[in-house]
Amino acid sequence: MPAHFNPFQIAQQQLDEAAARLELAPALHAFLREPMQEVAFTLPVMMDDGSYEVFQGFRIQYNTARGPAKGGIRFHADETVDTVRALAAWMTWKTSLMDLPLGGGKGGVVCDPRSLSPSEIERLSRGYMRKIAHLVGPEEDVPAPDVYTNPQIMAWMLDEYEAITGRHQPGVITGKPVHLFGSQGRSDATARGGMYTVREAAQALGINFEGAAVAIQGYGNAGQYAHKLGCELLGLKTVAISDSRGGIYNPHGIDYAAASAWKQRTGSLAGFKDADALTNAELLELPVAILFPAALEAVITAENAPRIQARVIAELANGPTTPEADQILYDKGVFVIPDFLCNAGGVTVSYFEQVQNAYNFYWPLAEVHARLDAIMTKAFREVHEMAQARQVHNRLAAYLVAVARVAEAVVTRGWVR
Ligand code: GLU
Repeated sequence: MPAHFNPFQIAQQQLDEAAARLELAPALHAFLREPMQEVAFTLPVMMDDGSYEVFQGFRIQYNTARGPAKGGIRFHADETVDTVRALAAWMTWKTSLMDLPLGGGKGGVVCDPRSLSPSEIERLSRGYMRKIAHLVGPEEDVPAPDVYTNPQIMAWMLDEYEAITGRHQPGVITGKPVHLFGSQGRSDATARGGMYTVREAAQALGINFEGAAVAIQGYGNAGQYAHKLGCELLGLKTVAISDSRGGIYNPHGIDYAAASAWKQRTGSLAGFKDADALTNAELLELPVAILFPAALEAVITAENAPRIQARVIAELANGPTTPEADQILYDKGVFVIPDFLCNAGGVTVSYFEQVQNAYNFYWPLAEVHARLDAIMTKAFREVHEMAQARQVHNRLAAYLVAVARVAEAVVTRGWVR
C-alpha cells in the first residue's frame, strides 16, 4: 500500500458518504465513525536463541450492537493501529451485510512472520491470547485468521484461552483445524463465497464467463483457493497470479496444482516454468475479464484505475480499492463486487463454526456449502437491487444496506438517539 493512504481514513470516508445518503443523525454518524473499544499492548516474546523481542499488538472491537465482535488477527510487518481500525470497521459492515448476528472487530501484531520460526510464532500467538483473553469469548469477541495467520495459530490460541479460563470453549475463536472443533468448508470459504458472487454478477450482467481469462493478485488462502475454485466451479482460466515478491503470466492459463505445489516447495511463485514474470502492478492492468485482488489494501487507486481493463473486479482482499478509484471504475462501467460482500464467505463459515461449537454438533460439508450459497446470494441481490434503485456503485450500495442495519440496532438499543 502506498504510504500516503490511511486505510482508516478511507473507511471513514466511505461511511461518511453512506451516512449522508441515509441521513443519519449527527451523533449516530459520529458513533459509527469510531471503534467502540480498542486495546494496544506490548508483547515480549522469547526467540529461539534465548533473546527477547518486543512486538506491538492490537485488538479492536469496532461495533457490537448486532452481536459479539467478530474478525481476524493479522500478523504483518506493515500493520498499524489505523489498518486494524479500518479492518474492524469493514468487519462490522461485513457481518451486517450478511445479516449475521455479530458485530465487527479485528486484531493484529506488527511482525514479519516469515522471519519467525514455528516455535517463535507459537509463543507469539499464545502471548497474544494472554493479552486479549479478558476481552474475548464466544459472547464478547471471536477472533479468526487473517493475513499470515492460519488454523494452527487458531489452535494454539484456543488452547491458551482454555488454559486461562479452565473451561472447554471452542467457540472463542474460529478458523480452527477441522479435527479441533473447526468447521468443514472453512478453509476455502472466502474464495468459495467470492465465486458465488461472481456467478451472480455474471447472471446480473448477462455474461458467460466460462473459459474467461482472470488475474489473481495475492496467493495466500484467498488467492490460492480462488485459482482452484475459479476453475472448478466457474470454468475460469487463470492467466496471471502473484504474491508479495511478484507474479507470473501465461495467456494460455496457469495450472493450479502445479503453481500451488511450486509455491509450497519454493516459498514463492518466482521461477515457475511455462510462465513469464510480471510485476504486481502489471498484473492489475492485464486484459482479463475478471480481476481478483486478494492481497492487501489500496492497490487500485486513482493512478492505475483508468488503465484497468477487467470487466469485473471481485475483491477478495479487504480494502483494495480507494474511493477515488471507485468513482473512476464506476464511470468506466467496471462492475466491482466490493470486499465486504465478495470476501464475506470466510466470516460466514466462521459463524457456522461458532454455531456448531455452541451446539457441539457438526454439519456435513454439503450443508455448509448450501447455507453459504444462500447467504452470499441473498446479500449479492440486496446490494445489486440497492445499486440499481439508488443509481450508485456497488460499494456504496453495500454500505447503504449494512450501515442501515447497524444504525437501527444502535438506535433500538437506545445507545444513540
Ligand atoms: N479475516 C477474515 C475477514 O477479513 C475472516 C474473519 C472471520 O472469520 O471472523 O473476513
